[in-house]
Amino acid sequence: METIAPFLEVVDEITEAGGDVFKLCFQCGLCDTVCPWNKVRVFSMRKLIREAAFGLSEVEGEDIWRCTTCGTCPAQCPRGVKQIDIAVALRRLASQYDLFPASVKSARTARASLISEGNPLQGERAKRADWAKDLSVKTYAEGMEVLYFVGCYLSYDPRMKKVAAATVNILKKADVKFGILGDKENCCGESIRKTGSEQVFKDLARKNIKTFIDNGVKKIIVSSPHCFHTFKNEYPEFMVNFEIVHINQYLLELLDRGQLELTGKYNGKVTYHDPCYLGRHNGIYDEPRDLLKKVSGLELVEMQTHGKNSLCCGGGGGRIWMDTPRQERFSDIRLNQARETGAGVLATSCPYCITNFEESRLNLGFEEVIEVKDVTQIISDML
Ligand code: SF4
Ligand code: SF4
Repeated sequence: METIAPFLEVVDEITEAGGDVFKLCFQCGLCDTVCPWNKVRVFSMRKLIREAAFGLSEVEGEDIWRCTTCGTCPAQCPRGVKQIDIAVALRRLASQYDLFPASVKSARTARASLISEGNPLQGERAKRADWAKDLSVKTYAEGMEVLYFVGCYLSYDPRMKKVAAATVNILKKADVKFGILGDKENCCGESIRKTGSEQVFKDLARKNIKTFIDNGVKKIIVSSPHCFHTFKNEYPEFMVNFEIVHINQYLLELLDRGQLELTGKYNGKVTYHDPCYLGRHNGIYDEPRDLLKKVSGLELVEMQTHGKNSLCCGGGGGRIWMDTPRQERFSDIRLNQARETGAGVLATSCPYCITNFEESRLNLGFEEVIEVKDVTQIISDML
């Protein structure tokens, strides 16, 4: 260990971040047993907690940046330790001292883009709604049924724009009165907060909240589990409460009340990957599966690990912006698990998962073997 952070600062930072239950850790090591990192390399959350308890954290190294905030170890810790809060607190300290290892530097580019353009992808703010140009999507106005909060990846990423278009297609077919915020939409801020940039998160959250209030927004549909999580569980820290619905939940409601009808016939097997921020963090396991089961001819098959034990794609906690060597990508393992089911499609509901899976699909040479789709794309094709 080279650099040693002062005892009080480490402990104070963790306490302030709400992770002070780290003192309860009795070093059983269960967190390390369940952590996906230990499928690809050695990483010990238990050790990070031990060092933090003594104020001896090595904040300039790579390890404090590894946790993908997947939620697996907090759900199983016998002492209720908040491992994610501890990792985030250590990142806050590293950010304060500008200590970023090489693999994390690209997260700083994302941060700069969030500050200047409101998205992490270096897209121009003025072009945020360009994906919707030919789709005649209305701008949200007070009194509309719902706001569709599109999110950054679906607004700018060429692959993910198709998911936004599929969503619009479904909402229109169901005759939902909805609108978008266009260039007034800012990143929800979930992932930048997990990299320790608390102030950037707060600035983004305040801008979004102001826009929601100024436009009389009450109900918000989101495509990304990260937007879902932060709007539902973190924005209430600002004393606001909007009704937040993930698109999978909303589509199931539309189908159940007969506002939407699936007329197409699917022919084949699909396996579903639970995104961490939909599943473990918010308990939404059934709705996406129930939706897929409504598709005639679709056979839903499960991967070796699913539901509460679903393997993380590797993109949470800001890792989507960091460099991960090929041999350490969880998404490669997941693609192999999906392939073992014999499914022709790996379906999921998160832009980070799709981004990572598409890259693994390419790297593994699985282009002919399996497709990666958002659940909304499958539903849209069945209308
Ligand atoms: S599972 Fe909980 S108690 Fe056990 S080592 Fe990890 S943090 Fe400590
Ligand atoms: S939250 Fe997930 S990635 Fe982070 S230490 Fe726990 S198991 Fe590992």
